[in-house]
Amino acid sequence: MTIKPNPHQPSKPLPVARPGIMDIEPYKAGKAKIEGQQKGPIYKLSSNESALGASPKAIAAYVEASFRLHLYPDSSVSALRQKISDIHALDPERIICGAGSDEILQLLCRAYLGEGDNIVQSRHGFLIYGIAAQSCGAHVKFAPEKNLHTDVDAILECVDERTRLVFIANPNNPTGTYISHSEVTRLHENLPKDIVLVLDAAYAEYINESDYDSGIKLVQDNHNVIMTRTFSKIYGLGSLRLGWAFGPATIIDVLNRIRGPFNISHAAQQTGIAAMDDQEFITQNNTHNKTERDIMIQRLNGMGINGAADGEGLVCQNSFANFILVKFPRQKGNTAQEVQTYLQENGVLVREMSGYHLPDYLRISIGSREANQKLISLLCEKFET
Ligand SMILES: *Cc1c(COP(=O)(O)O)cnc(C)c1O
Repeated sequence: MTIKPNPHQPSKPLPVARPGIMDIEPYKAGKAKIEGQQKGPIYKLSSNESALGASPKAIAAYVEASFRLHLYPDSSVSALRQKISDIHALDPERIICGAGSDEILQLLCRAYLGEGDNIVQSRHGFLIYGIAAQSCGAHVKFAPEKNLHTDVDAILECVDERTRLVFIANPNNPTGTYISHSEVTRLHENLPKDIVLVLDAAYAEYINESDYDSGIKLVQDNHNVIMTRTFSKIYGLGSLRLGWAFGPATIIDVLNRIRGPFNISHAAQQTGIAAMDDQEFITQNNTHNKTERDIMIQRLNGMGINGAADGEGLVCQNSFANFILVKFPRQKGNTAQEVQTYLQENGVLVREMSGYHLPDYLRISIGSREANQKLISLLCEKFET
């Protein structure tokens, strides 16, 4: 038997990943536990999970699904896609479900990116886009933002002949800002028609602004726009891994060819249906979020301004999602990193932002009233002396 030499690494005997894979910075999830001893409860405000948990109806459906663990799930995900189309008035044939919207973002990259292509995303946009693109041998071009807002002109300037996909999260994680429907439309109008515009609307259910659209309108009328949604945030089903997308029939067809045939478990399908049926829970969660977010922003913005050496206390701008982004002073003892450690020592987990090019910031999810009050009082102790 003759063994053909590996053209990539002729002299090395060990397996080597494709070029570019080792350049990927692995995704760091928000901290979920605290090492060592901990007195009192732990509040996890690091992953933008639902403050109210999941709907009791969804939990009941999940328990019921446990009696069918031995059976493969419905490969076409028909009932769940029908439910989504009922709730949002969409054509079910133009919906695809994924194991989290993450999977759909990855499928898009696998389908449309090759070696040497690139994607464009905003400077402080969601990190998963870049990871998914790099895993396909493509590059990431970061468009600068304007005052922590997606900048349509900057994105358009980054687009070149090798750009295949443009990703924006709207509202964006981790900035919490959004751009209006007319801005998204302007972005689309100025993109070449062979580029796919991906509108990630993971936080759509939290925003109530009249000039906002999740992307449905743009997807209805165009062949190169797709909108992704998730059950991980307001629906409170992060553990299940369930998301969906609405797109042109041609793109949905492409994605269906490369997805795993059983990518959505039966439990996820049934629980998703029950969760969507309980829209009252979604309204309640939205109201809770708005009330608590207003309190958090009001209490934190400007906190410590008198004590800070540089005259700058905490800065917390408006947010349209279920988290806030807070800027900390570069003052010894009070930096973002030191505050994160201090909060953690006192049982509150928040998200550090250096991976997002925002080292002076912490992202804090809106939690239960109890969790939010705990966070506020800890920051009061530190900054309002
Ligand atoms: C949380 C989040 C998602 C959701 O990911 P899932 O895979 O559906 O859990 C997608 N996009 C953004 C911007 C997010 O913050």
